[in-house]
Amino acid sequence: MTIRIFNRAPALFVLCSLLSACSQPTGSCVQPAGVTLQVLGSGGPIADDGRASSAYLVWVDGKARVMIDAGGGSFLRFGEAGARFEDLDFIGLSHLHTDHSAGLPPLLKSGSFSDRERPLPIAGPGGDGVFPGVDDFLKSVLDRDSGAYGYLSGFLDGSNGTPMLTTVEVATGDAVSIWSGENVAVDGKRVPHGIVPAVAFRVRAGDTTIVFGSDQNGSDPAFAEFARGASILVMHMVVPEDVRGVGRRLHAPPSVIGEVAGHANPGKLVLSHFMARSLKDLEANVALVRKGYGGSVTVAEDLSCVTP
Ligand SMILES: [Zn+2]
Repeated sequence: MTIRIFNRAPALFVLCSLLSACSQPTGSCVQPAGVTLQVLGSGGPIADDGRASSAYLVWVDGKARVMIDAGGGSFLRFGEAGARFEDLDFIGLSHLHTDHSAGLPPLLKSGSFSDRERPLPIAGPGGDGVFPGVDDFLKSVLDRDSGAYGYLSGFLDGSNGTPMLTTVEVATGDAVSIWSGENVAVDGKRVPHGIVPAVAFRVRAGDTTIVFGSDQNGSDPAFAEFARGASILVMHMVVPEDVRGVGRRLHAPPSVIGEVAGHANPGKLVLSHFMARSLKDLEANVALVRKGYGGSVTVAEDLSCVTP
């Protein structure tokens, strides 16, 4: 009897040698010019949606310059998107729930293999109650002596040529300027997410403005002002319309998302951060959003690209 052992790897290598497309990341949004939003993770905190948790890239002229959120799974999606750690100019963590921040350490470790030495600005909320601010969060992870991943402490002090993280904490409900660089600027504003300090980010690149609403319950009318006239507004549709209790204190149901978007009036609305319970009646939930907002609505998928 003949036993045949089929090893797929050599066959794949031959195929990729013949098809240069194999060397391209399957989820690339890269455009030589212009601004593109890429969804890295469109899922939520429960492992029931088949999606990475919250993470987004803003591509500017072919480079992934800004990353908002780094939830679980974003490490894998970052690579699939073809993004490079060297190109990142800014990381914003909207809040310090795991589904928005747990992917950061592996991303940093991956970046430690790059040639990058220049500092990397990273912003998030200031601390409140049981939640640390982004500064203490990074120390709890990266401190040489007490950090869970103290072996990555170069990101705190720049030792051994490691790019140092420079932190900015957003502690106010007023809109504040956080960071600006070549042709790109980022503003932030605290948004209501129960007792959890959370920040919405507004990324301006050329004529394009992309607002990331973070997890929020939609109760602050100043947020719609913050997002007014954005090219793209990303809102997190986590819960169904009949949500009550803690879920409602944390999150806006679809009809409230529609009202917020209606007031902000963006060019496009991207709905994201799904779980099984908000995907269950997706069509009906999107219809509720559309009652308040008559513009273009996109339902996010991991690695999807949205242009202004
Ligand atoms: Zn979340």
